[in-house]
Parts: sequence; C-alpha cells; structure tokens
Amino acid sequence: MASTDPLKRALKKEGLRYTQQRQSVWDELCATDDHRDAEEIYLAIRQSELHVSRATVYRTIDVLVKNKMVRKLDLGDGRARYEHKMNATHHDHLICIQCGKIEEFVDEVIESRQDEIVKNFGYKLVRHIHQLFIICDECKTP
Ligand SMILES: [Zn+2]
Ligand SMILES: [Zn+2]
Repeated sequence: MASTDPLKRALKKEGLRYTQQRQSVWDELCATDDHRDAEEIYLAIRQSELHVSRATVYRTIDVLVKNKMVRKLDLGDGRARYEHKMNATHHDHLICIQCGKIEEFVDEVIESRQDEIVKNFGYKLVRHIHQLFIICDECKTP
C-alpha cells in the first residue's frame, strides 16, 4: 500500500525507516516559514524531549531536499539555509549581507520578464533563483 504521507513516501524511496526522529525534523521545518541552516534546525529540535542526533537531522534534511519537500538556499556564504515547500508559492529572496536576515518577495514583472528572455532564446524556463543582496534597516549605519 502506497503511503500518502509525503515524509513516509520520501523515506521509503530512499530506503530509510520511518522514525519519530525523522518526523520531528520534518515537523520542525514545517513549524515556521523561517530560512534556517541545518544547525539551527538541529538545535531547535534539541529543545524538545526527543533525542535526535545531528547526523539524523542533516541526513533527513538532505532527503527532504532531494524529494522537493524542502528548498535549499545557497546564499554564497557557505551556509545552506532551508525552508519547507508545503503550500508555499514561488517567491524570491532579499538577503541582508550583514545580519543574514531574509525577506521574501514576488514581482510579476520580473517573473514574466524571465519567461520572455528564455522564450526569446527558444528555450523553456525550468526554474530560477533570484536573490537580491541588501543591507537592512537595522544594519544600516545612520
Ligand atoms: Zn541586517
Ligand atoms: Zn523563502
């Protein structure tokens, strides 16, 4: 019987057992719309009673990324950030280069312009990553 639970399905596909620990990683990712690195997610789970190893957290995140349940953001600082993709519509990011704060935006003009550019080449757009690096209000020295 095929499981309709996306986590169970993903774990099965990767040949991994479903465990409470792996469930907690997925739950933690879905609990917020934040963009956190693996260590922050690991520390958040550690706050609970459940014992989860760092290796389990990192490995489970990899599985979730591979199965398109979680989006991995490369901000160019060597620390990948993660966000869940459940019920999340497409959006791009503004990233503060000082404090790492991340804001989300969608701009229809940019979206359609990207489509046009690719179409003008005769290609089909598969996906894009658009990141604007900024200095946020709090980091701006007056
Ligand atoms: Zn900032
Ligand atoms: Zn985001």
